[in-house]
Amino acid sequence: MSLLEKIADELLGHFPRIASGNYIHFLVLRHSQSFPVFQTDGVLNTARTQAGLETRDNISRLVLFKRKQTTPERLSGRELLRSLNLTSDDPDAENYCQYNGENSCKKCPDCILYGFAIGDSGSERSKVYSDSAFSLTPYEQSHRSFTFNAPSEGGTMSEGGKMRTAINELDHVLPEVTFPTVESLRDSTYEGFIYMLGNLLRTRRYGAQESRTGTMKNHILGIIFADGEIFSNLYFTQALYDVFKSDLYAPIADIRGQASPVIDRLLQEEPVRISHQFMGSELDELLREVSAIYQDETRLTEVMSTLYEQTQTYAQMYGANSGTKKKGRK
Ligand SMILES: [Zn+2]
Repeated sequence: MSLLEKIADELLGHFPRIASGNYIHFLVLRHSQSFPVFQTDGVLNTARTQAGLETRDNISRLVLFKRKQTTPERLSGRELLRSLNLTSDDPDAENYCQYNGENSCKKCPDCILYGFAIGDSGSERSKVYSDSAFSLTPYEQSHRSFTFNAPSEGGTMSEGGKMRTAINELDHVLPEVTFPTVESLRDSTYEGFIYMLGNLLRTRRYGAQESRTGTMKNHILGIIFADGEIFSNLYFTQALYDVFKSDLYAPIADIRGQASPVIDRLLQEEPVRISHQFMGSELDELLREVSAIYQDETRLTEVMSTLYEQTQTYAQMYGANSGTKKKGRK
């Protein structure tokens, strides 16, 4: 029996209406591969935090807000759904779904798993839990500001009589900066698990869309099945800082290797029951099985079509348009 078959056996075959305490936690090191831009109003977001759990001095850290992590992952998933013709970007199509707007379809895997909120016409709470992530390394050593003069569309350095200069001074994250992250999926089916994990593995570009330089790689360190939530991104980051503070720029392979005992220790402190903990070679095997699905069009279509049926059924029974939500309120 493959690892995925085992997982499929244990997860629900449908999305329940009421939270039922089944969490899958993905422990991820987000690792910059070029110069991502995660700024708001021209500067990167930073926060002053305690360096480690035991290392009590304060340092400034780069902050990667939640939306800047989940938006690109959602877009990867939506691209996949369209490529399999499960959803469409044609407003006239029956399966049209607009991203995060008035015309979200409210029934596709993206709408149901990641949630939506459309004014008066309903909302769905996200089943994907994420939060701000913090750089392992101090801000001062994790960024650089580059100024470059980009020509206007006409190829000149001035536009409407004004020189185009400072607009392109951007504060960039440096390559090989690490953001330890816990992203969680609540009450999912097996197919929802494959979808979200695929989005984590297949998303390569984060940060400002226009920069086109924000390549990052998500290294999965562990996948934990538990009956409750576990430690935060900051706590995870601080625990790793204590271990790596003398060598914060250790090769990613070393950080991956040495993170396992840290994760073990942190999990032992959590008041949750853990039914599966995929790490090390077992995790590698699981990730190989997942990649094999994404490489096989027939299997991928089967998994994603089943997922679409599950989210559609959920939407009909409990969704924003189902009418069940209004019952008893009048
Ligand atoms: Zn949708």
